[in-house]
Amino acid sequence: MTGVTVPGQAGVPAAESGPMVHAEQVHKSFGSIEVLKGIDLQVRAGEVCCLLGPSGSGKSTFLRCINHLEKINAGWIRVDGELIGYRERGGKLHEMREKEVAAQRRAIGMVFQRFNLFPHKTALENVTEAPLLVRREKRAEVRDRAAALLERVGLGDKLGNYPSQLSGGQQQRVAIARALAMKPKLMLFDEPTSALDPELVGEVLDVMKDLARDGMTMIVVTHEIGFAREVGDSLVFIDGGVVVESGNPREVIANPQHERTKTFLAKVL
Ligand code: ADP
Ligand code: MG
Repeated sequence: MTGVTVPGQAGVPAAESGPMVHAEQVHKSFGSIEVLKGIDLQVRAGEVCCLLGPSGSGKSTFLRCINHLEKINAGWIRVDGELIGYRERGGKLHEMREKEVAAQRRAIGMVFQRFNLFPHKTALENVTEAPLLVRREKRAEVRDRAAALLERVGLGDKLGNYPSQLSGGQQQRVAIARALAMKPKLMLFDEPTSALDPELVGEVLDVMKDLARDGMTMIVVTHEIGFAREVGDSLVFIDGGVVVESGNPREVIANPQHERTKTFLAKVL
């Protein structure tokens, strides 16, 4: 285990048939700047957790740690019982090899503020790309599933369109379909509607609502308080790299307990 401080092996409790996502005391620094200062968070299977917090509070960094885009300095994260980045063998922790990391990442879908579609590929090709490359599935099966996913996000008539021929809301829906094509057990959304014109926000939130209704486990970084209130099973307010307050979204929004939560909600409501 080079360069990473993981709690003593006894400090990482055995996987229980517990939450889909379980993070404990997650710390992350960039150089001398500590961005995550001990994040604790649990999301049960099938639930939607909305992450709120001011700009620079560490929300994106935390999502990136779950998905191997950043490596944590201390603490641990389990997704569906598996430790992120470490394999448990013979009562010991071993840092994962590249292949194991890739497999773990495939089970986690991520949607960013910027859609990052391949500009020279059609909507359908954007969705089939990864499954064809990575999952080595049959082309016809992948194509059918991709078409069905695009249908599901309301783009059944846009399979052959290039990103430049789609609105921002449509591009983001392709990005969601693309993530779903890998059959993830967890979806991470990092401000998925922040880059959209206001009139296009609703169509993307509707797709996310539909996913939630379908039982997908989701962590959603968003400033859309209405979405958090309506769809969220939990709300976690992060400030300065720690969880300041969490609970039922409707209760936290109606009756925030901490000054920092009150100040933040007053600005976004
Ligand atoms: P949020 O998503 O809540 O706005 P971020 O997680 O993006 O916050 O960033 C939290 C802090 O970490 C910010 O101060 C940001 O500048 C810093 N940060 C994020 N990524 C890096 C990086 N790769 N190198 C250095 N600092 C970073
Ligand atoms: Mg961010």
